[in-house]
Formats: sequence, structure tokens, C-alpha cells
Amino acid sequence: MSVKKFFWEDPYRTTLDAKVTSVTDNVITVDRTIAFAFSGGQASDCGTINGYNIIRAEKVGKEIFYTIDGEHDINVGDEVIIMIDWEKRYRIMKLHFAAEIILELVYKNFGYPEKTGANISDTKARVDFVWNGNISETFPFLYSEANRLIELNLPITSDFSNVEDEERYWEVLDFGKVSCGGTHLKTTGEIGLIKLKRDNIGKNKERIEITLVNS
Ligand SMILES: [Zn+2]
Repeated sequence: MSVKKFFWEDPYRTTLDAKVTSVTDNVITVDRTIAFAFSGGQASDCGTINGYNIIRAEKVGKEIFYTIDGEHDINVGDEVIIMIDWEKRYRIMKLHFAAEIILELVYKNFGYPEKTGANISDTKARVDFVWNGNISETFPFLYSEANRLIELNLPITSDFSNVEDEERYWEVLDFGKVSCGGTHLKTTGEIGLIKLKRDNIGKNKERIEITLVNS
């Protein structure tokens, strides 16, 4: 089974009608959705299905299983309304693309260090690298280049590289083209001002934490 993922087609959509395709206790699947399920380090959306809070969203293959809370009255075949917490999603999208920019800048300008982890919530994003020394030495360069790309307000294209396997990419001309199944902004300018923080997370392991200044 697979669900049509409207969060790719229109990541700015906040409400969607869908049809329920399965119900097992509090776990529901639908024919189409806007509620993102954790993958590639991007957090799941907060949202509701017919007013019931989505307390868990799990992506398995091309399907997404939503666990809703409470005693629900939803049955297979029902038309339901899916809503997402847009303020939270938009912060996730800004932090996600800020992390994409920082990652590309580090890769291309500092010898493609190995990435050991990444995570994007609605309050901060982080990217971890195998790194000798203090990664904050790169910050003056990263601030200057990231702010330049954000101020230029460049268009971001997102599309399938493989429809059958649901493989996606984003592209900013003259900057980068990267495989990613997350939800991406339309323009770099939406990110606004960012703040970087360094953390040493172990021997030869450095973390860059990204936060938004204005959101
Ligand atoms: Zn991405």
C-alpha cells in the first residue's frame, strides 16, 4: 500500500480531504496526506485527522501509519479532513533548508567531511561531522555564504528523480542539487536570519546547531 504524498506536491498546504484506507485500533492509513512522517532526520508534523490528534506518524515503505489519540469513530472508506500545525511545519521547513545550505557549504568548501548525523525539529537543526579541530572556525565563512544565498532569495526546485521509488531532490541553480525526501521551501529568502552554534560531541566529532533568529 502507498499513500499519495501531497506534502511533496504542495508543502504549503495545511488542510486536505482524504479517504481512510485502513483502521486498526488507533492506527489509520489514508489514500492521500499532507502530514509528514519522520524521515531523513526531518520531524513528523503535528496535526489532526477529523479533529483527532496525530500522536505518531510512521513511514513504512511508501505507506504512512498514523496513530490518533482518543476513542475515535473513524471507519474504512470515511472521508476525513487532515490538518497540520502550519507554524510548526514552516519552522521545520526553514530549519531544514538552512541545514541543507550549511551541509552543502561544509561539503564543498571543507573537503567533504563525513556526516555522522542530522536532525531537524521545529526549534533547531543539527548536522554532525567527523572533524579534527574546532568547527566554529568555519563559521565566519558559513555565515557570510549562507546569508548571501538567503539574501539573494533564490528559487528552490523540488521534484522526483524517480517517481516509482519516490526518490526526491532539491536544486538551487549554481549552488547544489541534492537527493532528499523532506519538504522544501520555494525560496531561500524565507529562512531569514540564522544562528550557528558549535558543540563537541566526542573525539573528532563536531556538531553544528542551527536556530532561526526571527521565528
Ligand atoms: Zn531536504
